[in-house]
Amino acid sequence: SPIPDYLTQVLDTCGGDTSGAPADYIPELRDADPDRLGVSLCTVDGAVYDVGDTADEISIQSVSKPFAYALAVIDRGLEAVLQKIDVEPSGDAFNEISLDPATGRPRNPMINAGAIAAHALIDGDNLDARVERFREFAGRLAGRELTVDEAVFASEMSEAYRNRALANLLRSRGIVEGDPEDAVRGYIRQCSINVTAHDLSVMAATLAAGGVQPLTGEQVIPPRVNRQVLSVMTTCGMYDAAGDWVTSVGIPAKSGVSGVLIGALPGQVGLATFSPRLDAHGNSVRGVQIFERLSDDMGMHMMEAP
Ligand code: GLN
Repeated sequence: SPIPDYLTQVLDTCGGDTSGAPADYIPELRDADPDRLGVSLCTVDGAVYDVGDTADEISIQSVSKPFAYALAVIDRGLEAVLQKIDVEPSGDAFNEISLDPATGRPRNPMINAGAIAAHALIDGDNLDARVERFREFAGRLAGRELTVDEAVFASEMSEAYRNRALANLLRSRGIVEGDPEDAVRGYIRQCSINVTAHDLSVMAATLAAGGVQPLTGEQVIPPRVNRQVLSVMTTCGMYDAAGDWVTSVGIPAKSGVSGVLIGALPGQVGLATFSPRLDAHGNSVRGVQIFERLSDDMGMHMMEAP
C-alpha cells in the first residue's frame, strides 16, 4: 500500500518544526520528550496505518471529552444532557469560565466546564464507578484495555485550582449535583487514561463509522449519539481556533494538551497525530500541520464534493 510511504513523507515535511511548547501547567507533561511525533490512520473498514511514535503511551487529556459526552448522552438521554450542557461554540480557550449567565450551563462539552459537567453525568454511584465505566467504554472504542496514568493524574491534581473553581461554580448553579471535588477528580482521572496514537485513530474511526468499532464490529455508540458528538466536535472541538480549523481542514476534530489530536471524517477515516508542542490555542503545532496537509492532499475537507 502506498499509504505508509505517503504518511512518512508528510511526517518528514512537518517534522522539522520545533515551534510551540509542551503544556507547562501539568508538570508530568512539561517534562516529557517534546520531539516525539506520530500519525495513525484507520479506515472505517479497519485497516490501520501507523508511522512514527504511534505506540507511545500518552494521556488522552481533552480527547476524552467527546467520548465522555457520548457516554453521558447514552446514560442520561440527549434531552437531560442538553438541560445541563449547551452546544454553542464559545470562541473561548479550553479552560475559560464559559457558563451561560442565565442558566449556569457550560457553553459546550468540549471546554473544561462542559466536560466536568459531562463527566459527572456518567452513570455510577460514586467517583470510582464513573471513572471505571468511562475506562471500560474507552477500552471498547480502542479495542484494548486502557489504564489510568497515576503519575499524570497526581501531577495534574497538584495544580488543579482552576478546574476546582469551575466545578464549584457548576455546583453553585446546580449543574453538577454531587460533590464538586469528586467531579474534578473523576474528570482528571478520565483525562489521565493512557492511549497511543494507534488507539486514537481506531477510536476516531469508530466515530467516522457511525459508532461501529471497525476492528470488533461492535456498535459502541448509537448512531444518533454519534451524530451529536461529531457535530459538537465540528463547531467546538478546536476551542478558539474552531472556525479557522473548519475552514482550512474541514474534519470534525478534538485536541488535547498532551499533544494528541484526532479527526473523524464520516464514512471514511479516523486520524490521530501525536506531537507535544502546542500553539497558543493549546493545539499541537505539528499535528495541525499534518492535518492541513492530509486534508489538502487527499481532498478530505468535508465541504468538498467527492
Ligand atoms: N486535563 C486537562 C485540563 O483539564 C485537559 C485540557 C486539554 O487537554 N485541553 O486542563
